[in-house]
Amino acid sequence: MSDENNTAGASPEASGTGAHSRRDFMKVGAAGAAALGVSATGASAAETTATSASAATEPAVTNPYGPSPGGGISLPDYFKPWPAIKNNNFYMPGTETLPKNEMRISFLGSTPWPPTQLQSGTSILVELGTGEDQPRRFFFDMGNGSIRNAIAMQVPAPLINDIFLTHLHADHYADLPYMYPFRAFSGGFTPLRVYGPSGRTPELGIKHMVKHMREMNRWHEENFNACPIGDGFEIDVTEFDWKQENGIVYDQDGVKVRSWPRSHVKDGAVAYRLDWEDAGLSFVFTGDGRPDELSAKYGKGADVFVSEGTIDVPKLSAMKLGAPAELWEYTIDIFHTMYYAAGYLFKQTQPRMAAICHYEYAGEALEAESVAEVRANWDGLFMFGGPDVQVVNVSKDAIWSREANLPKGAAPAAMDPRWFLKPGEALPETISLPTPRLPREEQQEQFVRDLEIDPHKYYPPDVYRKPVQTWPGVTLNPREMLAARGIKVDD
Ligand SMILES: [Zn+2]
Ligand SMILES: [Zn+2]
Repeated sequence: MSDENNTAGASPEASGTGAHSRRDFMKVGAAGAAALGVSATGASAAETTATSASAATEPAVTNPYGPSPGGGISLPDYFKPWPAIKNNNFYMPGTETLPKNEMRISFLGSTPWPPTQLQSGTSILVELGTGEDQPRRFFFDMGNGSIRNAIAMQVPAPLINDIFLTHLHADHYADLPYMYPFRAFSGGFTPLRVYGPSGRTPELGIKHMVKHMREMNRWHEENFNACPIGDGFEIDVTEFDWKQENGIVYDQDGVKVRSWPRSHVKDGAVAYRLDWEDAGLSFVFTGDGRPDELSAKYGKGADVFVSEGTIDVPKLSAMKLGAPAELWEYTIDIFHTMYYAAGYLFKQTQPRMAAICHYEYAGEALEAESVAEVRANWDGLFMFGGPDVQVVNVSKDAIWSREANLPKGAAPAAMDPRWFLKPGEALPETISLPTPRLPREEQQEQFVRDLEIDPHKYYPPDVYRKPVQTWPGVTLNPREMLAARGIKVDD
């Protein structure tokens, strides 16, 4: 989407220039203060403006920021909620149906290191509204701890699929080996689809990683094969050339995902752009790397552009954490994008909303500095994609962001037999679960089972249950399951 479209949702009063007039005011304010030889601190600039205004004729009371619904100096007219949003101040998972042609971006995890109570490893969920219960889903990276947030966001485990990895640093995929066996165990009986770049040699590509990840999980896979798994352990890997420039990674049903290479010390890191034709909406995630020309070029005009980011205060980091400033400088300068540069990329690409995800939340004391570094170059709509979990709804006319209100305890989405159907398939009378491939008798010595304590010793007699220890064969009655939740499917 081009810069002109930035004001697509503007009210008639705003005459389509509200966002820009406010931005221009910022620029004029700073330049004007400089021209008058005063420091550009808020106080002096304000005094200067007031003095010159009163020196003229009777001052008219005006709003220098322009008539936007929310006011402020960086909030455009299109930053506003709309009726599909049930609560303007927080997102309550599972309570909103994403309307057709609307996009929802959830920052499931947002840090490289260290993991904290506020931030899991990086993962961004992009959902495309179909008007149905379950939107189309795309996961960009799956860092450590991000899956617990996906589950809390009421993403049904069997429906986790289409995972795009930017590169093979563990903070971007550590939850993949944890997630896939449990997904299969939870009813994800169909293969998982994972996409990612090749490396300099075959051993450095995503195919090699996935093959050996499954090897690493061999004990876990065999163990879970005592349960219904179907083809849930199978992983279809799409490995593409890390060097391709804006090459197509995914092209299905009006959605294209493209990639380009990123400078992140080692070859094999990429950025992604998702374009959704029907809705005319797009999303970019740079993954990790240095600010680069390709991201400026291929990220242009995206509705939402997400960069990684790092605060650039090496001397302060040295004081706070003890390690020498040179170490911070070296790390930032070969691996990462400092906030100044993220802001510069935003200025080059002019998204409707810019965000930084994959950053170390530095605490309240450094929030103003963090924003100031971004604002050195970018004065448009901006947010940090964290702490976890921030949710951004995107329509053609408006953008709105909220924090998700997540349950602290176990609250996964209620099991729904419709998850097991192929698209368009009618609900059958019964659904039989796949037969386990490896019963415990085939993977465990008899003496270990013989050591199990006789259940009569711990069950009170009136609640005694005879243990079910051979696969009983389980057949679901989908209509009964749905009726128990008040859902009728045949009306
Ligand atoms: Zn990282
Ligand atoms: Zn990395």
